[in-house]
Amino acid sequence: MEFKKNQMAEVYIDDMGNEGEGIGHVDGYALFLKNAVVGDRVQAKIIKTKKNYGYARVEKVLEPSKDRVTPVCPVARPCGGCTLQHLSYEKQLEFKFRKVKNCLERIGGLKDIEDKMEPIYGMEEPYHYRNKAQFPVGVNKAGDLVAGFYAGKSHQIIPCIDCAIQHPVNQRILKKILDHMEKNHIQAYDEKTGNGLVRHIVTRVGFSTGEVMVCLVLNGTKKKFRNLDQLTDSLLEIEGMTSICVNVNRERTNKILGDQIQEVYGPPYIYDDIGNVRYQIGPLSFFQVNPKQTKVLYEKAMEYAGLTGDETVWDLYCGIGTISLFLAQKAKQVYGVEIVPAAIDDAKINAKINNITNAEFFVGKAEEVLPREYERNGVYADVIVVDPPRKGCDKKLLDTMVQMKPKRIVYVSCDPATLARDVKILGENGYQVSKVSVVDQFSHSGHVETVVLMSRVEK
Ligand code: SAH
Repeated sequence: MEFKKNQMAEVYIDDMGNEGEGIGHVDGYALFLKNAVVGDRVQAKIIKTKKNYGYARVEKVLEPSKDRVTPVCPVARPCGGCTLQHLSYEKQLEFKFRKVKNCLERIGGLKDIEDKMEPIYGMEEPYHYRNKAQFPVGVNKAGDLVAGFYAGKSHQIIPCIDCAIQHPVNQRILKKILDHMEKNHIQAYDEKTGNGLVRHIVTRVGFSTGEVMVCLVLNGTKKKFRNLDQLTDSLLEIEGMTSICVNVNRERTNKILGDQIQEVYGPPYIYDDIGNVRYQIGPLSFFQVNPKQTKVLYEKAMEYAGLTGDETVWDLYCGIGTISLFLAQKAKQVYGVEIVPAAIDDAKINAKINNITNAEFFVGKAEEVLPREYERNGVYADVIVVDPPRKGCDKKLLDTMVQMKPKRIVYVSCDPATLARDVKILGENGYQVSKVSVVDQFSHSGHVETVVLMSRVEK
């Protein structure tokens, strides 16, 4: 079948791609379609063609799949955030489970892996789960101030102040700020010219403490923001408002936050808890965005680590020490390694807040720090935990891990493909997968978190 750009075609969706997109086959030619569900029959417009496959856009759903649902959010389709809201949550979970299984089978070479996989841990309530939001501020075609989210692969702002996956408090915050800007003639920042003041509104909520933080990202200092004290008074009417600050970002860049924080009200941080551990979170801190499911994830990591109180644990790619401190509750000693110095500062503060004295942190690349500490100081581990970014672990790190012969390796991953690649390498070097759990941290998106327990095979 030969397609041309802009041609229309009727397509039956018979499969799902890695990102959750629909796939249809017309005479053996595969078409990838966003917003299409397995079982849909759609009218599609061809957008782009390659030799063996192409991309198309759903123009009309002719016959909906039984798994298609009406998105809760009216801008689910144009907004670049949720890519799967049109698919029932149950099917989203099935998709994620299968994605992990397929990767472990095909890339990891693990044939009967399903036997080792626990049922997926989905959310009880797959809406309003995020504790952090970053809303760009701009003007629409009519010249009105808007805040919302960027459309997929663009910087066009899709107005949306009551995002279905964010905490409901955001709507009140955004309304107050936009009203204030309107009344006081405060301009939104314009990326094209570099003029204007307000770039982003960043909010964070401590789910267990109820504390709320608002951070205005400005192209200038807080002095430039007219009548900030009035806005502050108005924001303080919101229950839980604990921290109001300004982040100064004068760079012509896509980076949302600059380095400088100016306090406006309260301390420049809030607190949240995961299980029994309390974390201090500032506007620049990395913190897991779904605290409820993070607890599920860390409890799995804890269970798989099999701690009795005697173990030495290395937590690599530790961020602000979230997993390290969680495990320190049951380990003899935990060592964390993380590349971002500010994250390690947070980790140390968090250790102090929780009176945890058996956790020590190193700044540096995991693939440099661990080999160095092993070669120079002969460090030891009963358990090694890794939680790398999407690209997975460095080969040099995996080599050192294997040399250290820990009893167990707990691999926490946000990308099943690189997870499977690394699990294969560890599998060829004396480690066997004993358990796998998939935890849904990000409903309505294709992302998924996995925890794998690998145990050393005694020879
Ligand atoms: N375990 C943490 C964070 C995981 S995110 C948590 O659950 O909150 C992955 C972390 O790896 C990020 O903090 C990132 O800064 C860090 N990182 C990226 N490359 C790294 C490397 N080569 N060595 C050490 N840390 C790295």
